[in-house]
Amino acid sequence: MTATRAFAAQSATTPLAETVIERRAVGPKDVAIEILYCGVCHSDLHTARGEWGGIRFPSVPGHEIVGRVTAVGDAVSKVAVGDLAGIGCMVDSCRTCPSCGEGLEQYCEGPHSFQGTYNGWNDGSGENTYGGYSAAIVVDEHFVLTIRHEEDQLAGTAPLLCAGITTWSPLRHWGTGPGKKVGVVGIGGLGHMGVKLAHALGAHVVAFTTSEAKRQEALDLGADEVVLSRDKAEMKAHAGSFDLILNTVAASHNLDAFTRLLKRDGTLVLVGVPEHPHPSPSVSTLIMGRKAIAGSVIGGISETQEMLDFCAEHGIVADVEMIRMQEIDAAYDRMLKSDVKYRFVIDMASLK
Ligand code: NAP
Ligand code: ZN
Ligand code: ZN
Repeated sequence: MTATRAFAAQSATTPLAETVIERRAVGPKDVAIEILYCGVCHSDLHTARGEWGGIRFPSVPGHEIVGRVTAVGDAVSKVAVGDLAGIGCMVDSCRTCPSCGEGLEQYCEGPHSFQGTYNGWNDGSGENTYGGYSAAIVVDEHFVLTIRHEEDQLAGTAPLLCAGITTWSPLRHWGTGPGKKVGVVGIGGLGHMGVKLAHALGAHVVAFTTSEAKRQEALDLGADEVVLSRDKAEMKAHAGSFDLILNTVAASHNLDAFTRLLKRDGTLVLVGVPEHPHPSPSVSTLIMGRKAIAGSVIGGISETQEMLDFCAEHGIVADVEMIRMQEIDAAYDRMLKSDVKYRFVIDMASLK
């Protein structure tokens, strides 16, 4: 075991503070990574502030991790000491169920589902897993991603490990590409990546925002059109026209406003996980057009690698605002006001 500096929430109501956690010894299939940057996902905030049920404290959030490999076990072949590497939202799964067999570890049907990078069940022992708000992490090589971005793009690469894959997976699953009209709702960490990726995949992209200030920036991110979702006339102009709408909003809201914009057989995919449920959607809006409301969670390891390689090839990274570890609670407060463009990334050098 190795004592490792970290930042933890000791309870849902106390600010995060420095602590020391234990990382396991490097086993034959394990990779040890010195964490250089960690993105700040809204899921970290939901977790640290106890907004979701089943949170175990102390909690060390963070699942948008990039860093450098410092040690590998004898049986590791994916990466070598000195390589750049990434860790996303999962650190283990059963590996034997049908979903794991298809490379969809995020839908693992084993007894613990997938093991989250934080708030997961370590080694099947029941111990809490601790995430990327820490100096180092030890993970089985199956869950380690290869980073092909340039070294100076590293901070902007970190958010791809959650915000990137969580938007890439549904965009790909529902066939985003040329000739498709795709909406992205909520231009935050996930949403701004959704716009960039849907644009790069060749779709006609419409960004839906509640923030007037993001109107121009969303165009700069790659949106073809921007709609202020609180403006009824702007919304109505798009009625019945979308193949797919990806909804990343982190708060409960009326979904009918978006199902009305789908064309026949269109799909509204929910990836935001608000603390309180959305109001029940209108059935008649769905049946009059065979429309679907679906959900999607993160993405499998092979599709995460595919997304990272696509982004490296197309020069895609997240737009980030760097913070020090000690600034995390103030960063959460700003995220609640949609006041970040578009992802906070923690410079882990600040923890040393
Ligand atoms: P974020 O950076 O805070 O962005 C959320 C965006 O939603 C905001 O920027 C804002 O965009 C919009 N928004 C916020 N409050 C709103 C409200 N009351 N009404 C309408 N729009 C509102 O959050 P994130 O990191 O992208 O995460 C978004 C959600 O996805 C969270 O619930 C997170 O837990 C969840 N998540 C899910 C998965 C998954 O696998 N399914 C993975 C990661 C995260 P505008 O300013 O443009 O309106
Ligand atoms: Zn996340
Ligand atoms: Zn499984």
